[in-house]
Amino acid sequence: MKLTYCVECGTLCVENPTGLCPSCVREEEAAEDRVSEFLKEQKRASLEDIHKATGVKHKVILRMIKRGRITADAIITYPCETCGQPISAGRVCDECNKNIISQLKTDEWQSQPDQRLESAKNERMYIKDLIKRK
Ligand SMILES: [Zn+2]
Ligand SMILES: [Zn+2]
Repeated sequence: MKLTYCVECGTLCVENPTGLCPSCVREEEAAEDRVSEFLKEQKRASLEDIHKATGVKHKVILRMIKRGRITADAIITYPCETCGQPISAGRVCDECNKNIISQLKTDEWQSQPDQRLESAKNERMYIKDLIKRK
């Protein structure tokens, strides 16, 4: 058994896939219930809406989205990592994605732009799938 520090509260605990100590796991499960409950009523919710309604921290909600733990049909929006626009798939908005791709075309990636485009596309699909997964 390997010991590690809980990513949430820093308590020493047994290493496990969540990275959390048992009490934070319990708290996060309760938070997930609250978020799912809230999303049953919502067709579309932003990270901020969920946060305000449930009191669950943004980073916890994002962790749930990335793990595919939020299973409602609601479209969840969260800020683009580059400009802060609300997005519901991938890490950056379409506009920033275009900018990134056009930048990639002109800079050192020029020799293999297709490969970069392909991996950007794949990443978007992957995150979309995570969100959609039932
Ligand atoms: Zn903890
Ligand atoms: Zn953006």
